[in-house]
Amino acid sequence: HKYVYDFAEGNKDLKDLLGGKGANLAEMTNLGLPVPPGFTITTEACKAYLASGEEPAGLADQIAAHLAALEQGMGRRLGDPDDPLLVSVRSGAKFSMPGMMETVLNVGLNDRSVVGLAAQASGNQRFAWDSYRRLIQMFGKTVCEVPGEEFEHALDEAKRARGTTNDLDLDADDLRGLVDTYKKIFSKHTGREFPQDPREQLDLAIRAVFESWNAERAVIYRRQERIPADLGTAVNVVAMVFGNLGPDSGTGVAFTRDPASGAQGIYGDYLANAQGEDVVAGIRNTVPLQELERIDKPAYDELLDYMARLERHYKDLCDIEFTIERGKLWMLQTRVGKRTAAAAFVIAGQLVDEGLIDLDEALHRVNGAQLAQLMFPRFQLDHGFEPVATGIGASPGAAVGKVVFTSARAVELAGQGEDVILVRRETNPDDLNGMISARGILTSRGGKTSHAAVVARGMGKTCVSGADELDIDIPRRRFTVAGQTVTEGDVVSIDGTTGKVYLGEVPATPSEVVQYFEGELDPASIDDALVKAVHRIMSHADATRRLAVRTNADTAADAARARRFGAEGIGLCRTEHMFLGDRRELVERLILARDAKEREESLAALLPLQRADFVEIFRAMDGQPVTVRLIDPPLHEFLPPLEQLAVDVAVAQERGEDVAKEEALLAAVRRMHEENPMLGLRGVRLGLVIPGLFAMQVRAITEAAVECVRQGVRSCPEIMVPLVGAVQELETVRSEAEKIIAEVVGGSDVEVLIGTMIEVPRAALTAGQIAEAAEFFSFGTNDLTQMGWGFSRDDVEGAFFWRYLELGIFGISPFESIDADGIGRLVRIAAEEGRAARPGLKLGVCGEHGGDPDSVHFFHAVGLDYVSCSPFRVPVARLEAGRAAV
Ligand code: PEP
Ligand code: MG
Repeated sequence: HKYVYDFAEGNKDLKDLLGGKGANLAEMTNLGLPVPPGFTITTEACKAYLASGEEPAGLADQIAAHLAALEQGMGRRLGDPDDPLLVSVRSGAKFSMPGMMETVLNVGLNDRSVVGLAAQASGNQRFAWDSYRRLIQMFGKTVCEVPGEEFEHALDEAKRARGTTNDLDLDADDLRGLVDTYKKIFSKHTGREFPQDPREQLDLAIRAVFESWNAERAVIYRRQERIPADLGTAVNVVAMVFGNLGPDSGTGVAFTRDPASGAQGIYGDYLANAQGEDVVAGIRNTVPLQELERIDKPAYDELLDYMARLERHYKDLCDIEFTIERGKLWMLQTRVGKRTAAAAFVIAGQLVDEGLIDLDEALHRVNGAQLAQLMFPRFQLDHGFEPVATGIGASPGAAVGKVVFTSARAVELAGQGEDVILVRRETNPDDLNGMISARGILTSRGGKTSHAAVVARGMGKTCVSGADELDIDIPRRRFTVAGQTVTEGDVVSIDGTTGKVYLGEVPATPSEVVQYFEGELDPASIDDALVKAVHRIMSHADATRRLAVRTNADTAADAARARRFGAEGIGLCRTEHMFLGDRRELVERLILARDAKEREESLAALLPLQRADFVEIFRAMDGQPVTVRLIDPPLHEFLPPLEQLAVDVAVAQERGEDVAKEEALLAAVRRMHEENPMLGLRGVRLGLVIPGLFAMQVRAITEAAVECVRQGVRSCPEIMVPLVGAVQELETVRSEAEKIIAEVVGGSDVEVLIGTMIEVPRAALTAGQIAEAAEFFSFGTNDLTQMGWGFSRDDVEGAFFWRYLELGIFGISPFESIDADGIGRLVRIAAEEGRAARPGLKLGVCGEHGGDPDSVHFFHAVGLDYVSCSPFRVPVARLEAGRAAV
């Protein structure tokens, strides 16, 4: 079994086996770039080690062989007393896990080779002893679990003895002394001397890197980032090069384009006379990479040349780590670089212009989550405010408001028209009302899966979580941060994308991407790289996708906006939303009607209102299909709350008032009261129980269509029956509806389709039967998830989903992204059996999942005809539908 690959043997496509770093080092080596020689021990070796607790058979020999080749190539032997080869031992998993696993530098140094190293470095004793003390420190800490503070402490002590706080003021003798102290610390904690055998150092370091895969912080990080736990890490053994050999040495990072804006140019930082860890530690300030041109022009030119070559080769933004050792440039790492959402679009557009990628590939370079991010308002770029704290960007957007510390106060102030930011240490289900009222939520504890984060994302509310610099005092309604006290009513601004918290009102700007979708910015005539790129990529997505995108809208205004955003129809018009406000009373009267006369009166009052609604919506959609769902109210939303009513009646009785009417209402509400309204008298069940209700709606829809024809407007109504579980339910509604439609349409040119939602699991499982009575299916994945999992959709997210996410029972709420294995299986079965029974059956989805990126890919794969989502998600769905198709 081959466990070890020389850099020359690998390539960038072997990330599974060689990890990201190893695969890219191999790629650079094969491109002829100056990579320090080395080899990679595979993730398979790591997995074998972690499974059995010992190195797999053959690994030691393979390492020996590759080490020998490395020694020969370098003309030096590992730890040779006179002229030592030193190596770094670096972790490198398939997915980047920055800082989570271990690295040991300077392996090969011991009491004798430290002298040889000084000779190599032209007699630089200080450098050699500093390198040795760094090895003992790193090796002690990561390989032998010596408490890191002890080394830190000894280092501080040495500096104090010198009267300095700067490492660079320690001379060779100080460092030699420090090596002695470090060795004592090492043996005190490990019960053995610091190992002098270079190969033993190497083997132990490799083992420590293997084991760091299961370090607690790595495990937590993987869980957060949804990185599988069984991948293992590769280990890279690389010849050391030194950036700390004097002013003609140094180290830096470079980006081939600006990872923030995507703009072309030279971006990066450089630090002379330093090693990579110094840059990370921020001990000294770096200079902009451009300065390197002045410091070392040949190295700078060479670096620029490699950057251009890497970009052409990877066809993408690359980030690079490099070291200059006495004027010689070495490439230590490259990878396709992380970038902001805006940069992702801009760079994809540029690469198409440069002929490096085609538009299909450009679609793969961006995603719907990034597009969604670009559609939030954000703080102006040069706002000049300094953040007072940085937490976790838990739910994107820019929110400004007065600070409040309790849910009740949030509700109260928001009720007075104030914008508020709810500040809590962490949130719990009791805070829900406050969260709903607030513009944004700020907590001092918790990560991306905390209650606050999960619930805020579900609500589309800006949230910064885990801003632990905030010292929050709820009883006194204040917090302190950066030496300042913020009390209730003070204004703060929070950025849910970056996690930054500002005191005062930071000016926000609307999203130019939304302005573009609204038709307010013309990509042809403005000079805005982002808008141009978005336009180009969206146009290609539209040209490519198979799925149509509709919207969920119940008003003409929403419908019109969704059309501007690219919707091609309405996939769900929830008619119960048309019965709120003033009309609620009419519905209440209808539900509680004691006789046919009362019922017919309220229906007659509703008919013209409904008809006018539909005319307006059909006009807004101008011939595009409009799926109107017959009323599906959870009954309790239309009736006065039982308890309140009972109290009111009792109080009125006490006062001796005449309460005959109220008593009758109370009796009716009591009669209709349901313990579990979401599983009760709703949807088609209500339509079958209350005579004339669905008939009125069918009439209103059909009359509106006929009226539109008269006005010269085309319309395509589709009547949808909710909550069907058995074909008989649908057949009953259908036969009544068909009679009304035939009667109303008469001779006019109107066609009305009748179909059903598939949102009760039984409907999915009997879809073949149901399709006989349905011209279309629309999957109601909200209810399908609710009933399939048995999760009350109104309660669980706030109540316990955070815990499920924390435990990894699911990676994302099944109400947010379709549970492909379970609920998705129901969708698949229904789609297949429905189409088998009725070829050409139109299939769509109108649950929240219709606008979720991963779910869109799933619906594409299942073969649906369209997805339908809220107007704001329409561009996201268009983009993802395009991505799913290429
Ligand atoms: C659904 O259940 O997915 C659906 C779209 O209907 P509603 O959300 O109105 O119950
Ligand atoms: Mg539903």
